[in-house]
Amino acid sequence: MGLNMIGPKPDRILPFFEKIIHTIDPVIASILDKAIDGKEISVEEGVELFEAKGIEMSTLILAADELRRQKVGDIVTYVINRNINFTNICIKRCGFCAFSKDYRDEEGYFLTIKEIVDRAKEAWNMGATEVCIQAGLPPRMNGNLYIDICKAIKKELPEIHIHAFSPEEIVYGASRLGTSIDEYLKMLKEAGIGSLPGTSAEILDDEIRSIISPGRIKTRDWIRVIKTAHKIGIPTTSTIMYGHIESSLHKAKHLSIIRDIQKETHGITEFVPLSFVHSEAPMYKKGLVKGIREGATGAEVIKMHAVSRIMLNNINNIQVSWVKEGTKFAQFCLNAGANDLGGTLIDESISRAAGANYGQFLHPKDFRRLIRDLGRIPAQRSTTYDILKIFKDESSDDILDKFQFDKSNLTSISINKL
Ligand code: SF4
Repeated sequence: MGLNMIGPKPDRILPFFEKIIHTIDPVIASILDKAIDGKEISVEEGVELFEAKGIEMSTLILAADELRRQKVGDIVTYVINRNINFTNICIKRCGFCAFSKDYRDEEGYFLTIKEIVDRAKEAWNMGATEVCIQAGLPPRMNGNLYIDICKAIKKELPEIHIHAFSPEEIVYGASRLGTSIDEYLKMLKEAGIGSLPGTSAEILDDEIRSIISPGRIKTRDWIRVIKTAHKIGIPTTSTIMYGHIESSLHKAKHLSIIRDIQKETHGITEFVPLSFVHSEAPMYKKGLVKGIREGATGAEVIKMHAVSRIMLNNINNIQVSWVKEGTKFAQFCLNAGANDLGGTLIDESISRAAGANYGQFLHPKDFRRLIRDLGRIPAQRSTTYDILKIFKDESSDDILDKFQFDKSNLTSISINKL
């Protein structure tokens, strides 16, 4: 069934819609028809969609929304979680990262394991089901640190889900301990890790990576960590960071790599487009990268979500990041293929350091308002997309809804130099 045949057939096509159908570029129309029929679209076809403008772009959004409806229905999910970015001290200098500091820097901080556990406990007591732990790569780090963090959290909070350590951190931890990726991931699983964030993907193209983040793990390393995690039973998310120097072809190829991994392992729970936040990023501020854009435009953001829904026909969940896009634009992306709003976060530090204007915390009731206003159904989910609670009406008993966000309510960051 193609795009022109969705739902009951009217006796005649209304003039307005007839005009639209006959106006749209036939190339875009046939790609969208193919996608709506459940067929895989190629990298070249993905590029065509990324380049769509005007009525073609509007039709692309409509097709992505229809695919979302067919795949996951009208429920829009969110997770109650807390980010714990336990240190900003890092040996790398990725060009987009305004979070990392040198170990001699006055602004460097390092939370102890006890402080990390205390934060996890605070989150759990406020109704969080997940802690998301990512940080810088401190010099001379004990390779057991990530394992010890997981063990310490699980000892106090056996039921909390630990979503932690990007492929970059996994490669670093394994090399500091002198073990293989496979062995390291098995040790983390044994210590209680629940899933890995598929961050540090940026654009999975080594030429682009060597410009925006020289020193970062290579594309093949990212893929190896993700596939190895899946093979030993650790699910992961997947991401893209776009809006800097990449082209439509880079984005389409990136999506195709993610789709191929999923075909092989089925271990990816969601895909999260993350638009580049330029204002504090060193590579933008210092003019280090020729031709760098000031982040993605609104059209790019919308198309990124829509094309992701269309190309990633084997991944159910497309998340829009309210931290990157703001709540109003994130709400709009829910009508362009996305079905998840991510997490409450509580105290996110990385995007804010890069200059994002949104973020640290969003009440679950605010998520629900955004979702209901679109005529969709809000639901709280687990990290791995089990539905925990569907909110059919406004009544709610979330502890977090009563929480007034104020930094003084939370354990403050202590500055421990290495
Ligand atoms: S993105 Fe991660 S690895 Fe790169 S500089 Fe920032 S904290 Fe370090």
